[in-house]
Amino acid sequence: MNQLELLWDYQTADIEVERISKEIKSSPERQKLVKYRDYLVEQQETMKRIEDEILTMQDRLEALNDAVHRIEEQIENVQSRLNEKEPESIEEVDRFINDVQRLQNNLADYEAEIARIRKDAANRDHLQHDVKIRAVRTKQDFDKLKAVYDEKYAEMSQRLKAAKAVTEEKAKAITPDYMEKYRVIKQHSFPPLARLSGDKCGGCNMALPAGVVKDVQGGKEIECETCGRLLII
Ligand SMILES: [Zn+2]
Repeated sequence: MNQLELLWDYQTADIEVERISKEIKSSPERQKLVKYRDYLVEQQETMKRIEDEILTMQDRLEALNDAVHRIEEQIENVQSRLNEKEPESIEEVDRFINDVQRLQNNLADYEAEIARIRKDAANRDHLQHDVKIRAVRTKQDFDKLKAVYDEKYAEMSQRLKAAKAVTEEKAKAITPDYMEKYRVIKQHSFPPLARLSGDKCGGCNMALPAGVVKDVQGGKEIECETCGRLLII
């Protein structure tokens, strides 16, 4: 066998390796596992977002509580001023009333915001709880499927290992420059070698110029000008 025939033989084994690799990658269990994993990552991100939101809410609540405290002090001040000294005019009474009113309005606004934030925070707690439960269930499904997959994968990877061993054995007969040629073509076209099929390239099915067909038949090494595969008779 010449180098091209040996390379063809190697390619046959390599096609089997690629086929098993593809079978492993496209196994339904594996694809489902990838989906579960993506979903888990998504849940983790949601949890993180909720935690951040709750932290922001807690900061805002602290600020609001301080503000409420300050207003309560101000209201007490107004009241003790009133207790110390009776207002001397109607206008002064009005001013006191207005001050207290204004402070009480502010207080009501703050308290409304506090109530709103507490409600939002409670909603987020529920959401967080739901997300956690979903994540735990997904993890359980993931683990169950992973066990099934691992078993199946062990079998497939045994086959892959065996197929790779065959290619390695066949590669021994091929010189490095042919191996390199094969590797380079494989990057854009697989399988890298194509048989002549009449006057067509067996890889891409395009008709070849008569001169090229003749050269290949005469033993010249030529790559298909359409797909770049190395032609072999
Ligand atoms: Zn071609």
